Amino acid sequence: MIGRVAFLSLHTSPLAAPGSGDAGGMNVYVDSVARTFAGMGITVDVFTSRVDDGFAAETDVVPGYRVVHIEAPGHDRAERVGAFASGVAAWATRRAVRYDIIHSHYWLSAWAGVLLTEPLQVPLVISFHTLGRVRDVGAGEPPPPLLRLAAETEVIARAGCIVASTPADAVDLIEHYAARPERVCVSPPGVDHGLFHPDVPRRADLGLPEGPLAAVVGRVQPLKGIDIAIRAIGEIPEAHLVVVGGASGEGGDRELGQLRNLADQVAPGRVVFRAPMEHDAIADLYRSVDVVVIPSLAESFGLVAVEAQACGTPVVASRVGGLAFSVADGESGYLVDNGVLSDWTKRITAVFADDELRARLSGGAIVHASTFSWNVTAARLLELYQGLV
Ligand code: UDP
Repeated sequence: MIGRVAFLSLHTSPLAAPGSGDAGGMNVYVDSVARTFAGMGITVDVFTSRVDDGFAAETDVVPGYRVVHIEAPGHDRAERVGAFASGVAAWATRRAVRYDIIHSHYWLSAWAGVLLTEPLQVPLVISFHTLGRVRDVGAGEPPPPLLRLAAETEVIARAGCIVASTPADAVDLIEHYAARPERVCVSPPGVDHGLFHPDVPRRADLGLPEGPLAAVVGRVQPLKGIDIAIRAIGEIPEAHLVVVGGASGEGGDRELGQLRNLADQVAPGRVVFRAPMEHDAIADLYRSVDVVVIPSLAESFGLVAVEAQACGTPVVASRVGGLAFSVADGESGYLVDNGVLSDWTKRITAVFADDELRARLSGGAIVHASTFSWNVTAARLLELYQGLV
């Protein structure tokens, strides 16, 4: 029986608002799975070194799910990871807490998990959420540091189980990192159907333009390929695009500036940039647009795709990574090859122009999204944990 689990989320906190900086899908994932476990009677302590204004050193989110802030000082990453791991061990010892599983999220936490798994004698499970070697797709972002690639390779060789979000993610782990196939398990993320479901669109309340309207939702960084969506809208007369999200990572601010310039050139007055929206409010946006566009150059899963579909909004997405799994091509939306602008324009135009097609894809989107839920994700993770203890 699994009674208590430690989640390590060193670099970002599930309490941070997603949509800019370091906070995105992984934060939503950690928070959603922790809530679901807590609802099932499993205690989850999420450890993070990220400080956010207004949050105490320990926050009880709901009964059974707590976020613990651990100081992790150091001159470099190795020192900070070491300090974090020691801090977690000291916290658990002080409270006389024993975990059944340590589940690390992202490579830095995976590294900390490796430092903890042997001394605490607790099995280690790792979810990478993104992998350096897969992310390195020449998107104008700095290449991942060698330290990250080396650390990923090392922790993959040592973990009891590595959770892939899709079969494609599993193949990446095996092909790029020589992960042992018997240690790779697939457990797709879910979606909160209480939040993301069809409802009345509220476009006017949100101050969004009339007519054909597409949305891009997520952190602004070169890897998200948002320029493709802007160029496609530029080719479709009368169409508008709303881009919701804030700058993220080293190239984020520059990217946002370049996207604004591009919009002024190719679709003047037809692209609206919006600051990140509260996660609880974003369903209203999905419901109020005709199509959600996800032109990412790499994406391990794409929570936005499933959230939009759960709201009944078709998705036009890149045929990369997890998106080929989270979008049902031709049924809930379309998958498009990255580089070919005319393909994006063709698909988006079809969804705008053909009411019957849009209604069919909307129905298909609801059906496809219904196959994802946090309960299913949590149940699958429990199965994996159980196999390790
Ligand atoms: N998100 C949000 N507000 C925003 C933009 C994004 O709450 O303004 C959330 C979105 O609902 C989704 C997550 O951020 O849950 C983005 O996850 P995704 O997997 O699509 O991308 P990632 O951030 O992992 O690259």
